[in-house]
Amino acid sequence: MKVYNIAVIKGDGIGPEIIDEAIKVLDAVAVNADFELKYDEYLMGGNAYDITGDPLPQETIDGCERADAILFGAIGGEQWDKLPRDKRPESGLLKLRAALGLYANYRPVKVYDELIEASTLKPEVVQGVDLLVMRELTGGIYFGKPREKGEDRAYNTMIYTKEEIVRIAKEAFESAMKRRKKVCSIDKANVLEVSQLWRDTVEEVAKDYPEVALTHMYVDNAAMQLVRDPKQFDVMLTGNIFGDILSDEASMISGSIGLLPSASVGGKVGLYEPIHGSAPDITGQGIANPLATISSASMMLRFALGEVEAADKIDTAIEKVLKEGYRTKDIAAFGASEVCSTTEMGSIIADIVCSHR
Ligand code: NAD
Repeated sequence: MKVYNIAVIKGDGIGPEIIDEAIKVLDAVAVNADFELKYDEYLMGGNAYDITGDPLPQETIDGCERADAILFGAIGGEQWDKLPRDKRPESGLLKLRAALGLYANYRPVKVYDELIEASTLKPEVVQGVDLLVMRELTGGIYFGKPREKGEDRAYNTMIYTKEEIVRIAKEAFESAMKRRKKVCSIDKANVLEVSQLWRDTVEEVAKDYPEVALTHMYVDNAAMQLVRDPKQFDVMLTGNIFGDILSDEASMISGSIGLLPSASVGGKVGLYEPIHGSAPDITGQGIANPLATISSASMMLRFALGEVEAADKIDTAIEKVLKEGYRTKDIAAFGASEVCSTTEMGSIIADIVCSHR
């Protein structure tokens, strides 16, 4: 029997609620499989600061490094917003990504047919959308130095090295080879020097992938094209800040931010998390949509552990519950035959994956 060690970080806000459901589903899928999942819980974010004075205790980094994969909920909340930047929950996550070398963030955006009406865009625009935002995660303006906040003047620095661009571009081209063989690289090369290096470097990497069609798009145009005609995109390759913004925009194509998973890879251990935050406005009400996290758990099985059959079971179960009309509150207005709570949604999916119903 294979045993996988999963580092679990529940985090703040709705983090614990959605992670509990993902674990419920993982345990259910493991029942009839030839592997066992062992979980070790670690602190990060606001709750870690409250308990240890540090949003990312060293014990969490060490535990993550020892694990086969990391399953993460979300961090953040208003009560920590006034803390110095390096004590805030978000800095814990940024530091963890950097410490583990997680430079490649996969954000697949898929539209479920049953939820076409949930999108704010017209059904004919979103039907069949299947794209992947490939976001660089450990460079760019979020990490660039120097950075300073003065009284009347503040600045950040957007830096990319050629090496950083090459490795994320390769990740995008490799992914495109398994998909529809199209990469659209997003930059602001008409204004920013760093984007010009990005564009030139992506062109160079593209030479090794002659089967992949490469196009370039300025980020402002990409933001517009994403709502005009999202089906034109297969893999969208972007830097850190552009990818952050575009992937949230892309999430609305699918109807709810509560549906989309992500994987951050590149180092020894991958981190799997929903793309949404800690949703303090709905914390503790039992209405958070756990599907993004359950879907992230499926990505973890597929990519980190190679348990493709188990991952397929979870993905099929998600499609099935949506087809059968089960909806959490965020998507209840769209084809619900039954509105369910966070825990009910997790239980229904767990039931399907272990009983094949
Ligand atoms: P958010 O993603 O937490 O919430 C945005 C909106 O979407 C809210 O109305 C929320 O209720 C809703 N929502 C989010 N997830 C949902 C789910 N699973 N089911 C149903 N509805 C859901 O973004 P925000 O409000 O801008 O940020 C709240 C906190 O989360 C902040 O402290 C922010 O820094 C943090 N944050 C953390 C992460 C992360 O942990 N990776 C990512 C983004 C934001």
